[in-house]
Amino acid sequence: MDIRVELTKTPKEKPTDENNLGFGHVFTDHMFIMNYDKGQGWHDARIVPYAPLELSPAAMCLHYAQEVFEGLKAYRTADGSIQLFRPEENFKRLNVSNERLVIPQIDVDFCIEALDKLVSIEKDWVPHTDGASLYIRPFIIACDPFLGVRPADSYMFIIILSPSGAYYSTGLNPVSIYVESNYVRAVKGGMGFTKTGGNYAASLIGQDEAHKQNYSQVLWLDGVEKKYIEEVGAMNIFFIIDNEVVTPALQGSILSGITRKSVLELCKSWGMKVSEKRITIQEVADAYDSGKLQEVFGTGTAAVISPVGTLKWGDKVMTINDNKIGSISQKLYDTMTGIQYGKIEDKFNWVYKLKN
Ligand SMILES: *Cc1c(COP(=O)(O)O)cnc(C)c1O
Repeated sequence: MDIRVELTKTPKEKPTDENNLGFGHVFTDHMFIMNYDKGQGWHDARIVPYAPLELSPAAMCLHYAQEVFEGLKAYRTADGSIQLFRPEENFKRLNVSNERLVIPQIDVDFCIEALDKLVSIEKDWVPHTDGASLYIRPFIIACDPFLGVRPADSYMFIIILSPSGAYYSTGLNPVSIYVESNYVRAVKGGMGFTKTGGNYAASLIGQDEAHKQNYSQVLWLDGVEKKYIEEVGAMNIFFIIDNEVVTPALQGSILSGITRKSVLELCKSWGMKVSEKRITIQEVADAYDSGKLQEVFGTGTAAVISPVGTLKWGDKVMTINDNKIGSISQKLYDTMTGIQYGKIEDKFNWVYKLKN
């Protein structure tokens, strides 16, 4: 499929202060769109000026949440070239989400080509500041103007880009996390393993409760027994207990993070003992009490590695590693960002360099 390009006649002023970009506020000049119609498949691929969409108020995504999304970043290296981190993993995962939400499959190679072309057109928007990046948001929405409940016959696949600041402007500060034991986010058989807005809608109330108690994020427990650890809002979670790297196994209710997968591969390559298994919050508390809980950190594209300094479960408040970043968390952060920004050798072949 050809990609038609229509460039804007009114390019926007690019942000001059890259340290104050924050996350997700600023959008670039162009976006990629393609449409899907039953009987026709995906068609009309185009890069056009960034603008509001024309959408019926009856569009099915607005009523029944048939939508999926992805999140990745473009990084500028020291020599000015631009690269992505494992983009094929994002588009493969989008197809996993598509399948669960009865949305048609996309062609992974074509989507990478489209993204390459879009980012190349917008390359001046990729920040130069260390730690800043161009956040990439691909998403698909159901568009039929219809209030009945069924999978839609028409969709839009869109990619928008947002220059974003360094997640940690003042070094890697540990976050405080509140273990939610009332609400649940997902259950096995539900949509927990997909990246879809509905999962986030279900999580807002827990986030709100955490904020009220002065914690920054929520750690979710399993939806049935509220005993097994699942994941943090938009991050997978890791524990280092007695020199073993432990993370909840993928059993259908948590997202298969690409950062999670990369961290597991890195730790294995360093000869560390690594296990993906069911782990209860009680086991974590016991490890804490016996002095064996060495480090806790979250993993996700936005923060890469987010050290956890405090973990509150009911009345129990655990302070991890003196509320400082642990040595393994730091080494993982340095290695991951080193590869992403082209500062250290990419032994795993994770980096995708723009072709256009
Ligand atoms: C996106 C996301 C993650 C992190 O996945 P990455 O691929 O590492 O960015 C973790 N949990 C949830 C619920 C997410 O939506």
